Amino acid sequence: MKSVAFDYLTPSTLGEAVALLERLENEGKDTKILAGGQSLMPMLAMRVARPEILIDLKDIAELRGLREEKGWIVIGAMTSKREAEDSDLIRTRQPLFHAATQLVAHLTIRNRGSVGGSFAHGDPASEYPAVALVLDMEMKAVGPTGERIIPAADFFVTYMTTSLESNEILTEVRMPIMPAGTGWAIQEFARRRGDLALAGVAVTLRLQNGVCQDTRMAAFGVNPATVRLSAGEAALNGHPPDPATLARAAAAAAAALEEPMTCAHASSEYRRDLIKTLAERCLAQAVERAGRRAA
Ligand SMILES: Cc1cc2nc3c(=O)[nH]c(=O)nc-3n(C[C@H](O)[C@H](O)[C@H](O)COP(=O)(O)OP(=O)(O)OC[C@H]3O[C@@H](n4cnc5c(N)ncnc54)[C@H](O)[C@@H]3O)c2cc1C
Repeated sequence: MKSVAFDYLTPSTLGEAVALLERLENEGKDTKILAGGQSLMPMLAMRVARPEILIDLKDIAELRGLREEKGWIVIGAMTSKREAEDSDLIRTRQPLFHAATQLVAHLTIRNRGSVGGSFAHGDPASEYPAVALVLDMEMKAVGPTGERIIPAADFFVTYMTTSLESNEILTEVRMPIMPAGTGWAIQEFARRRGDLALAGVAVTLRLQNGVCQDTRMAAFGVNPATVRLSAGEAALNGHPPDPATLARAAAAAAAALEEPMTCAHASSEYRRDLIKTLAERCLAQAVERAGRRAA
């Protein structure tokens, strides 16, 4: 199928893009932002999305690039996933985000797909929302009334729905540099490498005097929105990371999940079981890394 006919606009500054979006919204036009097109173009081709106008952000230089800023790593929304993957800053200072990026789709898709596009798309099977919850990331959005910072916990609302307003543009995502001594892991199960995950888990934790502290866990691919696995976190914090405790924490995390989704490839129970297994593996890997990073 081909997409419906649409007009195509290419503003060259953020101010121009925000003004265009605001004007077209006020005129009642169905307008969509185009970033890397790796999700939007298939949606157009399938006519799931039928916008009258596309505003392509590709010429807006100020939306690209990575930088370190007062203990944070800031990534411009139009930075490609490939640039993030190749960044030494991200690989060495925020290895969880680096590992998550390598799990997203295939290299050709990461070449075109933007970092910001994945956040704005809000797919609960995507790796980034889980990492954003675990790392307490922040999103910066700009609209006609100015800019605002949205914490990850308030950003992902439900299936492919974020708290971005229709007249706002996501301009950057921000993540704290990973403190020394933090253990981390991300693991997922997909039918083929590069497919969206049927289920996945991301974890960070610290070891202090032989016990786990500040454990943060999130699951993706299981519910309409990415979820924190608070029951698993509570079962681990304050306890030594012996195998039985890790298994108990993983089981608690899986048991507390609201009814996981069922699809043609995975039943609800199968997804719950995947989360238990992936959580246990992630916790063991994170504990091992926490020991190594503290040494
Ligand atoms: C075969 C295949 C496998 C994939 N596997 C994975 C995977 O394993 N994990 C994963 O996470 N993703 C996966 N994806 C999706 C891919 O990562 C997309 O790149 C990503 O979802 C969207 O980024 P994009 O830059 O291409 O955005 P686009 O497709 O251009 O836009 C996506 C949506 O976000 C909106 N948007 C984009 N940028 C902004 C912005 N700055 N401000 C406001 N709104 C904006 C658009 O309007 C649109 O609604 C896969 C895609 C394909 C085709």
